[in-house]
Amino acid sequence: MAASDKRTHVYLPETLPELLQLYRRKPLASIYAGGTDLLRGVTKAEFALPTEVISLQEIEELHRISRTERYLEIGAAATVARILQIGSNILPPAFYAALHSIGPPGLFSLATLGGNICSVDHVYSIAPLLSIMDVRYEVRRQGHTRWVPASRFRDANGAPALAEGEILTRIRLPLEHWNVQVFRQLGTIHLESTSPLIFCALGKTTKAVLDDFRLTFCGSSPILYRNRELEAELVGRKLPLPAREIDAFLHGVSQGIERTEMPLTPLQLHRATGLTRVLLARMGQPDSID
Ligand SMILES: Cc1cc2nc3c(=O)[nH]c(=O)nc-3n(C[C@H](O)[C@H](O)[C@H](O)COP(=O)(O)OP(=O)(O)OC[C@H]3O[C@@H](n4cnc5c(N)ncnc54)[C@H](O)[C@@H]3O)c2cc1C
Repeated sequence: MAASDKRTHVYLPETLPELLQLYRRKPLASIYAGGTDLLRGVTKAEFALPTEVISLQEIEELHRISRTERYLEIGAAATVARILQIGSNILPPAFYAALHSIGPPGLFSLATLGGNICSVDHVYSIAPLLSIMDVRYEVRRQGHTRWVPASRFRDANGAPALAEGEILTRIRLPLEHWNVQVFRQLGTIHLESTSPLIFCALGKTTKAVLDDFRLTFCGSSPILYRNRELEAELVGRKLPLPAREIDAFLHGVSQGIERTEMPLTPLQLHRATGLTRVLLARMGQPDSID
């Protein structure tokens, strides 16, 4: 079905096969999930839409959410409001917090998880966390399905690695027990002058030993910081970590940022290293960071 005016055709496929077939024929069309990113900056005075838009809103399969003992599977077009309804007792606490950060609450019933992940210009609030949670994305085009680790969803320049005709269809989130979960968002994502930072960490500790640890953060550019080797050096360490180990880790973080020329402002760097220091110092302490 297509509704049109002189400039814009809006397609409303009703099934996933219909969507994939349509997108194969029209790979330059814009995918419209909640539209909050796509229509950002559109005003009455300047009403410019892409010439062809394919809406995901009528496709029931893309709105589905299901749960097994091990996974949560979320359709790419499920809205943030629907995902939040699953409840804080089931959603991992850091994921729950990240969902609350996707903008003003008025957006929750429009913005979708898939749209948040696929934004071209930004790494938004949720993707960095998913990249360290071993989340996988189902990506489909007509006749082909692949599963991509969230950590490899973006290419070296930070753009979503979707080939022509490909759609993000499902997000599979393992319900693993991380007893340290941190999500912090500082500044305002769309305002570079506020030096925005998204900071996420996960840890598993047993009997005052660090069994697993993951850390990622990003500033205004769609490039994530992560250093698996440095993380591995902390695994097996006794908690609380001595100051020299924390210093050595932070030194490694700063070196990694320099080496990869990750574009961070001095304030973003200060925030990232400050949060990392507090996190590492408090792990294993009775008042441990959540
Ligand atoms: C005032 C304001 C403040 C905001 N602040 C934040 C914030 O702090 N943190 C944050 O995370 N977000 C923030 N956002 C962004 C908002 O959360 C995103 O706009 C939203 O998550 C995108 O979801 P959507 O469903 O509306 O996507 P859309 O606008 O429909 O799509 C976004 C992009 O993804 C593509 N796309 C969508 N779905 C798919 C799919 N399934 N497969 C392939 N491509 C797809 C679209 O073509 C488009 O390029 C803010 C937005 C506003 C308006």
